[in-house]
Amino acid sequence: MSTTGKINVQTENIFPIIKKFLYSDNEIFLRELVSNAVDATQKLKALASMGEAKGDLGDIKIEVEVDKNSKTITIKDKGIGMTKDEIEKYITQIAFSGAEEFVNKYKDKVDKNVVIGHFGLGFYSAFMVAKKVEIYSLSYKQGSKAVRWECDGSPEYTIEEIANRTQRGTNIVLHIADDCEDYLEEQKIEGLLKKYCKFLPVEIKFGTKKDWVDKGEKDEKGEAKQTEVEVENIINNPSPAWTKKPSDLKDEDYKNFYRELYPMQFEEPLFHIHLNVDYPFNLTGILYFPKLSNKLEMPKDRIQLYCNQVFVTDNVENIVPDFLTLLRGVIDSPDIPLNVSRSYLQADGNVKKISGHITKKVADKLEDLFKKDRAEFEKKWDEIKIFVQYGMLSDEKFYEKVVKFALLKNTDAKYFTFEEFENAVKPIQTDKDKNIIYLYANNVAEQHAYIDAAKARGYEVLLMDTMIDSHYINYLESKLKNIRFVRVDSDTVDKLINKEENTISKLNEDEKKQLQPVIEAVVNKEQFTVVFENLNETDQPMLLTRPEFMRRMKDMNQMGGGGMGSFYASMPDMYNLVVNSNHPLITRILNEKDAELQKSLAKQTSDLALLSQGLLKGESLTKFIKRSVELI
Ligand code: ADP
Repeated sequence: MSTTGKINVQTENIFPIIKKFLYSDNEIFLRELVSNAVDATQKLKALASMGEAKGDLGDIKIEVEVDKNSKTITIKDKGIGMTKDEIEKYITQIAFSGAEEFVNKYKDKVDKNVVIGHFGLGFYSAFMVAKKVEIYSLSYKQGSKAVRWECDGSPEYTIEEIANRTQRGTNIVLHIADDCEDYLEEQKIEGLLKKYCKFLPVEIKFGTKKDWVDKGEKDEKGEAKQTEVEVENIINNPSPAWTKKPSDLKDEDYKNFYRELYPMQFEEPLFHIHLNVDYPFNLTGILYFPKLSNKLEMPKDRIQLYCNQVFVTDNVENIVPDFLTLLRGVIDSPDIPLNVSRSYLQADGNVKKISGHITKKVADKLEDLFKKDRAEFEKKWDEIKIFVQYGMLSDEKFYEKVVKFALLKNTDAKYFTFEEFENAVKPIQTDKDKNIIYLYANNVAEQHAYIDAAKARGYEVLLMDTMIDSHYINYLESKLKNIRFVRVDSDTVDKLINKEENTISKLNEDEKKQLQPVIEAVVNKEQFTVVFENLNETDQPMLLTRPEFMRRMKDMNQMGGGGMGSFYASMPDMYNLVVNSNHPLITRILNEKDAELQKSLAKQTSDLALLSQGLLKGESLTKFIKRSVELI
C-alpha cells in the first residue's frame, strides 16, 4: 500500500532555503548522511549488547557507492533501520518541524554558518545536492516490513511498503541535481570521505582497490612471490589513537598516529599530550609539539577538530589558545557544536573552558617533562621555547605556571631556570641601585669581543636571539622584580653594570682635549661620537657601543609595532666611539710627533673598532688592509 503525505510545514517551499542557507558548504551532505549511518550502526551494536537485537549482526560495514549512469550516490548501512512509522516520524515530522523552527527563527538574519546539528536537519542536507532522495529501509525489529520513501524536494513525499528488501538497515539514494554533477566523480567522493570520515567508528567501504599480497610461494631468489588482488577500499581507521586509553599506547603508537594524520610530515614530533577530560565537558584528543622549521609550514597540517570522530574543521581558533595554534593533532569533543562558526564559538561558554583546559594541560605536560628528565627537557628547549615564550607573553595564568621551569640559555649553551640564573649572577651582577643586570647577546659571532670581555669579568651572558626575544625581554623586566636586561655591547664592559666609577685615568683632561680632534679627524662625526672612558689596560683601545634603549627600539620596530620604534628606526645608526684612556696604545698615539703617523695610528685603531662590529666595508676595508701591511 502506498501513501502520499504532505510535509507539515507552513512554509510551502522549504527546500530552496535549505539549499541556500543551512550550510555554508554543500559538500557536508556526505558527512551528515554517513554520520547518520554510523549512528544507526552504533545504536544497533548497543541494542545487541543489551540483548535487545537478536542474532548475529553479521557484516556491519557502511558502503558508499557512486553510479555515474543512474547519476546516484548511495549510502548503505546495516544498522537499526526504520519502520514506516519511524520514517514518517523522524524524517518527515520531527526534522521538518525542526526546519520550520529554524526558518522562523532565522528568516530575517540567516547566518550561513549557523549550527544546524541541533535542529535535527542533517538528513535534509541531502537536498543541497540531490533533486530526489529515496530511502529504502528495514528495521531490526522482529516482523518489520521494508519501506521505501521518496521525495523530490517539494513538501510532497511518497512512502510505501516493499517486498524485495531482506537486508536490515537503510539505503539512502541521492539522485544528484544537474548543477552538482561533479559529485559523481569517484575521486571527489573519496576525497570527501577521507576528509570527514577518516576516523569514524564504523568501517566505511568505498569500492575496491588493488593490493599486493604474498602468494605463499618463493621465487628463484628465495623472495616471497606477490600477487595483485582486489580488496575492499576501507576509507577509515575506526579506532584512532585518541579514542584509546593512554596506558594502552606506546610512544611508537603516538608517532604512527602522527604520520596517519599528516602523511606529508617527515619530521617526528617532539612530544605529545594526550587529552582526556569528562568533566565539566567531554574532550579527548592528542596534541603534538612539532619541530618548527623556518620553512613555510604546510597550511593544512593544523590541529583538527572532531565531534564524536566526525571531522568538523581544522580552524580551531578560540578553541585552542592562539599561542598553541602551531601545535598539531586532534581534539574531539561532543560539546563543540558541529559546523563551527566563529561568532557562535566565542559566545559558547564551553569553548572558553576548553581553551583554558588545554592551556593548563600543556603547562602540566611541560612541567612533567622538566621534572622527570631535565636533560631531555633542555635538549628540546630550543624548539619549544617559542611556544612557551609566546604563551607567557599572552596568557598570565600560563606565565605563572611555567615561570618556575622556563629556561634561560647562556652563550655557552648552559641552561638555567629563572631562579637558578638569579642566584648565579646576583653576587657580581648587581649594580649600585640594587638592580640585577641580566647581560645578553643576540649574535654570538658579531658580539664576540664583548661577550669575551664580560665573561673575563666572571659575568654570565644570556643568548636571546629569536624574533620574539625583544618582546620577551621587555615583558620579563615588567614581571621580574629588580631585573634589568642589558645587551652586552651596549656599553663598555665596565659600564654594563653600573657599580662605582673607575676614577683612575692615565690621561689628564688636557691630554684628552688634545687627542679628541686627532681621533675625530679620522671618523665620520655624524655617525660616531668620541668619548673617553677609564677602562682597564687590558681592554681594547677603542670600541663601539650603542645605547641599549635605542637598539631595543630599533629591534622592536623591525618586528613591527610602530610607535617610538619607527621614530628611532628613521634615525641613522649612531655609535659611541669609546677611547680607553688607560690603554698604552692611546698614550702612544698622543705622544706621536710625526703627524702623518699619528693620523695613521688613530685611523688604524678606530678602524679596528669598526671592524669588530662588521662596519668596515668596501674601500675603507681595502685601505685598512694596505695600511696594516705598511705599519707592520
Ligand atoms: P539528526 O541526525 O540530527 O537527529 P537527521 O535529520 O539527520 O537529524 O535525522 C533524523 C532522524 O532520522 C535521526 O535522528 C534518526 O532517528 C533517523 N535516521 C536518519 N538516518 C538514519 C539511518 N541511516 N538509519 C536509521 N535512522 C536514521
